[in-house]
Amino acid sequence: MEMAQAQYFRPHDLGSALKWLADNDARVAAGCTDLLASTESQRLTGNVLDVTAIQDLRGISKDDEYWRFGATTTWTDVIKSELPAAFDSLKLAAREVGSPQIQNAGTLAGNLCNASPAADGVPCWLTLYARVELVSTDSKRILPLQEFITGPRRTECAQNELVSAILVPHHASRGRSSFLKLGARKYLVISIAMVAVRLVEDAGTITDCAVSVGSCSAVATRLTKVEGAITGQRLSQLSLPNLQELVEATINPIDDLRSDARGRLAAACELTQRCISSLATDKVDVK
Ligand SMILES: Cc1cc2nc3c(=O)[nH]c(=O)nc-3n(C[C@H](O)[C@H](O)[C@H](O)COP(=O)(O)OP(=O)(O)OC[C@H]3O[C@@H](n4cnc5c(N)ncnc54)[C@H](O)[C@@H]3O)c2cc1C
Repeated sequence: MEMAQAQYFRPHDLGSALKWLADNDARVAAGCTDLLASTESQRLTGNVLDVTAIQDLRGISKDDEYWRFGATTTWTDVIKSELPAAFDSLKLAAREVGSPQIQNAGTLAGNLCNASPAADGVPCWLTLYARVELVSTDSKRILPLQEFITGPRRTECAQNELVSAILVPHHASRGRSSFLKLGARKYLVISIAMVAVRLVEDAGTITDCAVSVGSCSAVATRLTKVEGAITGQRLSQLSLPNLQELVEATINPIDDLRSDARGRLAAACELTQRCISSLATDKVDVK
């Protein structure tokens, strides 16, 4: 029996990419920083659709409803873009993804589609109420990020679909944000825990906030009880005496090689406090 040869396709337009994906059982490749790391060999096997030449998938823009982050926008693109302060958490996370080489190649959609519990982008996107746009030859659908990632390494992306963009509704681009990550060392490290916080203030009072934690559960999650305790407080006098209780009410941290559950819980609380302090003292530095 003759074996079909594996194909590599790198189209310049989205239509050709979707058509090829519909006709071929292929894996999608962007920066390959997750894909190659997850294989035992130096090369990918089977059919590969490389989406990095499709210009329509890259870049950051704004329309009437959303800030639109194209799927193949890289972490370096995020770092270099002028964005409102609500996106500072994303910029801070971008600078923590691997090294500059990884940030140059790694894409925003790749980070979400890989669906690692330790993906640094996810907590930031959650505080921005991000939605994921999925396209195929005959459909387009938009899912809230919480519905897109269904578990560790599992997403709603079907075999014939591509993620085309990550969308942030305008109401979620208000306020200021921060992000902190704890790893076993300072650089090139997988997170033990990471936290993103976005706050909206009116004359010093917090009128809206979103807090998310990653690497502490199977999927990153919003800390809604913490958010409830923060909203309505004055930022300069913010006090969270029962923070641990509030965090514990939402996450059930995991034990693994990098940390036990107790350590993760303590880290999530400390990072939350520090993110809030950096916002209160205006010390979020994305330069
Ligand atoms: C040395 C090193 C350090 C790293 N450090 C960090 C870190 O600190 N923090 C962190 O979060 N990550 C880290 N990563 C992981 C990785 O760099 C990021 O997750 C990156 O954003 C992945 O993007 P990519 O374009 O390389 O994805 P790829 O590897 O190309 O793809 C990843 C997955 O997404 C799918 N995919 C990609 N694009 C699409 C699309 N448009 N539609 C549908 N499916 C798609 C692929 O099929 C694959 O399953 C590191 C990786 C390495 C090698």
